[in-house]
Amino acid sequence: MPARSSPAPTAAPAKPATPALSPAQQALRKLGLVRDIDLALHLPLRYEDETRITLLKNAREGEVAQIEAEVVSSEVQQRPRRLLKVVVDDGSGRCELTFFSFYPSHLKTLAVGARLRLRGEIRGGFWGRQMLHPAFRQAGGELPQALTPVYPTVAQLPQAYLRRAIASALQRVALPETIPAPLLPPLAVFDRQTGLQGPWMLRDALHFLHHPQPDVALATLEDHSHPAWQRLKAEELLAQQLSQHAARQQRARLRAPVLTPGAQDLPGQLQAALPFALTGAQQRVVAEINADLALARPMHRLLQGDVGAGKTVVAALAALRAIEAGWQCALMAPTEILAEQHFGKLVDWLTPLLAPLGLQVAWLAGAQKKKERAAMLALVESGAAALVVGTHAVIQEQVQFARLGLAVIDEQHRFGVAQRLALRQKLSHQGMEPHLLMMSATPIPRTLAMTYYADLDVSTIDELPPGRTPIVTRVIADSRKDEVIARLAPQLAAGRQVYWVCPLIEESEALDLSNATATHAELAAALPGVQVGLLHSRMAAAEKKAVMQAFKDGALGLLVATTVIEVGVDVPNASLMVIEHAERFGLSQLHQLRGRVGRGAAASACVLLYSVGDSGRLGESARERLQAMAETTDGFEIARRDLEIRGPGEFLGARQSGDALLRFADLATDTVLLAWARETAPVMLAQHPQLAREHIARWLGGRADFLKA
Ligand code: ADP
Ligand code: MG
Repeated sequence: MPARSSPAPTAAPAKPATPALSPAQQALRKLGLVRDIDLALHLPLRYEDETRITLLKNAREGEVAQIEAEVVSSEVQQRPRRLLKVVVDDGSGRCELTFFSFYPSHLKTLAVGARLRLRGEIRGGFWGRQMLHPAFRQAGGELPQALTPVYPTVAQLPQAYLRRAIASALQRVALPETIPAPLLPPLAVFDRQTGLQGPWMLRDALHFLHHPQPDVALATLEDHSHPAWQRLKAEELLAQQLSQHAARQQRARLRAPVLTPGAQDLPGQLQAALPFALTGAQQRVVAEINADLALARPMHRLLQGDVGAGKTVVAALAALRAIEAGWQCALMAPTEILAEQHFGKLVDWLTPLLAPLGLQVAWLAGAQKKKERAAMLALVESGAAALVVGTHAVIQEQVQFARLGLAVIDEQHRFGVAQRLALRQKLSHQGMEPHLLMMSATPIPRTLAMTYYADLDVSTIDELPPGRTPIVTRVIADSRKDEVIARLAPQLAAGRQVYWVCPLIEESEALDLSNATATHAELAAALPGVQVGLLHSRMAAAEKKAVMQAFKDGALGLLVATTVIEVGVDVPNASLMVIEHAERFGLSQLHQLRGRVGRGAAASACVLLYSVGDSGRLGESARERLQAMAETTDGFEIARRDLEIRGPGEFLGARQSGDALLRFADLATDTVLLAWARETAPVMLAQHPQLAREHIARWLGGRADFLKA
């Protein structure tokens, strides 16, 4: 508990039941460091060696050294900029310290004659040894016996506070073994690097990793090959596999409505009315989904298919299946624009079938008038809304479904697990769970899917509808931007529509905005006679809608947009896209954006403008991303390369916020441990269910619940 690990209680709280948390305690909470075991499993990023004092004459250049020395001069300089220069002498040599920022109190501590203990990187330099912003305090005091851990932390949580919290948690926490000895990973895994006999016990491994002896080979700690690290990684992988298996077992015990075909054959009627025939791949996934819906346990299926593969119609067919069996369907999309678009399409498709049955499609979104919202909620509650389309608004507590049989989540990687859970709980009043269909255009590579989603069935649309012309992608330096603009003019004159996507500036929506606005003005000036629209995230929903509609209707030739258009937007006549500062986007994001064109019959093109910035050249991973974009339009290939460029941790991290991410193990390199964990999890669940539960709780704690989503 953070309250116990807090060393300095604040003034007596007025209401003892809920004492206010200090910023550091709040930060601990945010990092998920709530229980003693959470703190114990929060492992160092690296270590500092404060166990010895180095003589200056022995300190090597580039080495981080701790010295004790006396200040022989201390001087504040004003030019070329304000800085503090201090020279210290330890009897064996001298070193010059430079501080670019300092407080008056520092001047006192660093006054001539003071004896200091200093720690920093030694730089050689022509003028002798130097340290830049070393850590300093008064000399003397005991030297620690073990290396000093440096933990991952955040600004509000000082390293020293975190160290104390972890050290005391480590003293308190009981660490009984949860993995029965015969099931422990093969010894070979552990002794390969070090020649040590047998695996480490968890307790020893943890105490060691927090406070290693200074004689350890630091490289084996850094690359996590040390046997203590191996033990931790094995534990983590096993927890992840156990939770996945347990979730699957649990789900198999849940009940869901059986959705069998009705006499009216609504899906058949929709197919007959569509202007196109389903592709073979669409037919196959529809059959897979139907088979799940006919069972009395909840479907938990991911439908993946590249952008434009035609997932929406598959969702519509599943919805009709639920509706004709007498149940409701909810469809949730991550943005209002996208939800709106689904709504429009589904109203067109479904209303002719639903109206004769006295049913309709309802709309729920954040930016909705009170009265309209109340009317929609009533429809949902009465069951007259057979299909409910919307944004996050769909999962709010006030939304009471009469009989939710199927929940569809579009672009599911944009949602957190909490939202999936909320949807699934919408049928709990009947003691059941709705079937869940998750859709994504960002495919998860097979190996990852198997590892992370033991509790998920996957359907894949691996074929695009016929008649699509491939998108040609060009990577062009932004020094040629004028040329690109000039070449847009004849295209626009010929009636083609163009997206111009503005750069993403990290963590600054305001900058994004001014940038998009400036680009809009620039393009409007450069392309006289062309109607140029602007779309960004700060605009009111109604305004966005109006702009989107104007673009759809062809009233706007060119649409300047920030990434609000990233997912799902479908304007088939738009056949050109320019992405500015393409080097700043992630690979899957670029792929998503590009998927906005090439949706009609016209030959489509995507121009990736890149800027080399001040460095004069593109970074390596940016170059790899742009190259991948130029070389392939296949979403699976893109996903594979993304994984290669970024590594699996980050790959999933960006998508599955809240899921059990691996903190320590690496799926790409810890293959032996992963294979062991996959084999061991079912055995442990069958033979040692109590230990399995303890293991999951230890590693995942509150998050275990999330894994079921
Ligand atoms: P996504 O999988 O990216 O969500 P959509 O469902 O938006 O793709 O479909 C893209 C476009 O292709 C839509 O205009 C849709 O109506 C159309 N479409 C879907 N299936 C087919 C098909 N079998 N033949 C022709 N067009 C199709
Ligand atoms: Mg879609």
